[in-house]
Amino acid sequence: MKSWPDVAIPLLDLDKPMPTLALTNSKTNRKEDVLTRETYRMYVCGITPYDATHLGHAATYLTFDLINRYLRTTGSDVKYVQNITDIDDPLLERANRDNVDWQNLATSQIDLFRADMVHLRVIPPNHYIGAVEAIDLVTASISSLERAGTIYPIGDDLYFKNYSSPQFGKLSHLTKNEMATIFAERGGNPTLQGKVDPLDCLVWMAQRPNEPGWPSVHGKGRPGWHIECTAIALKYLEPDERQSTSIDIQGGGSDLIFPHHEMCASQAHVLTGKELAATYVHSAMIGLDGEKMSKSKGNLVFVSKLISAGVDPMVIRFALISQHYRKDRMWSDEVLVDATKRVARIREALSLNSVGQTDTVIAGVINALSQDLDTPAAIYAVEDWAEQSINGATGGDAHNLSTALDALLGLAL
Ligand code: ZN
Repeated sequence: MKSWPDVAIPLLDLDKPMPTLALTNSKTNRKEDVLTRETYRMYVCGITPYDATHLGHAATYLTFDLINRYLRTTGSDVKYVQNITDIDDPLLERANRDNVDWQNLATSQIDLFRADMVHLRVIPPNHYIGAVEAIDLVTASISSLERAGTIYPIGDDLYFKNYSSPQFGKLSHLTKNEMATIFAERGGNPTLQGKVDPLDCLVWMAQRPNEPGWPSVHGKGRPGWHIECTAIALKYLEPDERQSTSIDIQGGGSDLIFPHHEMCASQAHVLTGKELAATYVHSAMIGLDGEKMSKSKGNLVFVSKLISAGVDPMVIRFALISQHYRKDRMWSDEVLVDATKRVARIREALSLNSVGQTDTVIAGVINALSQDLDTPAAIYAVEDWAEQSINGATGGDAHNLSTALDALLGLAL
């Protein structure tokens, strides 16, 4: 699948090495330093293209963009892979509801997503892989799981025994009852007749009438969602055999911890004998005007709609990163108005001929980001500098700060 155009990260001329990045690992619930690597492997779950990018999606991709930028600025390479679930029940349901062809719907929404990512200056993945193009990969992974004795049929569908991995349940920290409840709420089918365990998940769905299917050794059908990500991550990130985990960072929104990431981790553990990721990172949810933002409530705010209404994409980016990625937060018109004013104030300071000390501000931004992406503190340091500069402080170089904001925060101001 075509990704989107690359975004250049300007080089920073720093006089000392950047601190090690610490991130909160959902598996341990602790803030941990990421291991120093020449090459990092990061997988972030992509969208199901029945609706373009809402602000919750955007916040998630911005979180991993900040990680990507930080690690690259330290001089490391980052292999970044993202999938796109271009065949799944929600896509077919939406296409049916709107009486449109599912492929046309997917193509139009993927195009919109790419445009949104370009506007928000998100660094593209090295591999952007659709479920449809990964079908051979997925069926090969299912065959490997089958050889490990972890697959069984219900009718013509295939299910994976999640408890095959002793790690199952250790990412989400949920009890079995809690898992069953959430599984049912998020598209799972814990009460389905014929299951060995209620939490086993679908890996191959035989073709249904009037639905698409692809031929495979498992019959004609389509992949389940979890195995799609597991197979794509393990293939395209090219895990290094010498490392103790297959990849360094697996990420997504916090609503993916269970069942999606828990089940991917279980499948990957069976396939490789190793933990999938060293660090599991999850971005919190964005609500609207005091309510959860969700497709069922019909209150999603879309990036493309804001942009076509004339909102500056850098203001959207600023507004989303001005609060911490792990904090559930609200969007409202006031948030946008506030961000617009704050961005204008920083731009005003950056345009001055003489500005306050900038080296300390850049160091402050780097230090804040190194501490679990503390973007509120990073932005506070910049705003404090802006006020002092507007009030006559001198001794800095606005161009250097502007370059650092571009490289580290992705803000082209
Ligand atoms: Zn995924």
